[in-house]
Amino acid sequence: MRRENFIALLSVAAAAAVVSGCASVATNTSHTFETVVLDAGHGGKDSGAVRRYSPAEKTLALDVTLRVNRKLQESQLQTVLTRANDTFIPLDDRVARGNAEKNSIFVSIHFNDSRRRAVRGFETYYHSPYAFELASAIERKLDTLPHSENRGVRTARFRVLRNAQYPSVLVECGYLSNRSEGSRVSNSGYRDEVADKIAEAIVDYRYGTGMYARQPAVVAARSGRTNPFAPAFQ
Ligand code: ZN
Repeated sequence: MRRENFIALLSVAAAAAVVSGCASVATNTSHTFETVVLDAGHGGKDSGAVRRYSPAEKTLALDVTLRVNRKLQESQLQTVLTRANDTFIPLDDRVARGNAEKNSIFVSIHFNDSRRRAVRGFETYYHSPYAFELASAIERKLDTLPHSENRGVRTARFRVLRNAQYPSVLVECGYLSNRSEGSRVSNSGYRDEVADKIAEAIVDYRYGTGMYARQPAVVAARSGRTNPFAPAFQ
């Protein structure tokens, strides 16, 4: 084979690999999603981070997830939970649960841990480029909380992100290894504020700024979904 032909063939193969790679990484549902798969990190035998300033990560992650769940439902989004109690769910099962929901996004909730106790703040991770905007929206919204520290939007090859069919983000809601952040997340009022910011970011991202909770009827109308409380004959 002539050298130029060989190079041409190589570049076609490379382009095909890139295209097929993108297609298999994720389907872009970031502007159409109607279901949010919420994934409370850890659970059961897997406690996640355990530090003296707060309950275990698995407990905090579930609590925030259940709060986000309720808030999203109030804004007329459908939700699916990978766990709703203190159960161990393997990572691949979590991914499979998300991939089974067509037209969805996947949001995993965690708390962080570091050997360096001074480290604190929020981090939001993504893998598919389709999830970058959502990750940024969540990080920006969390940054509006008092005393927050924005540690940025980052890419990572976490399994729940890497193997997701749909845009998938992982939110680290603060460092349990940091004394002030650990005690703050021990407070249910603060956890509700964190959940509120995450839910607001998701709803605003989907339906437009200012659509969160304040006008649930308008949100429902925009989504084209019928009001679940309306009489059946309407
Ligand atoms: Zn975790």
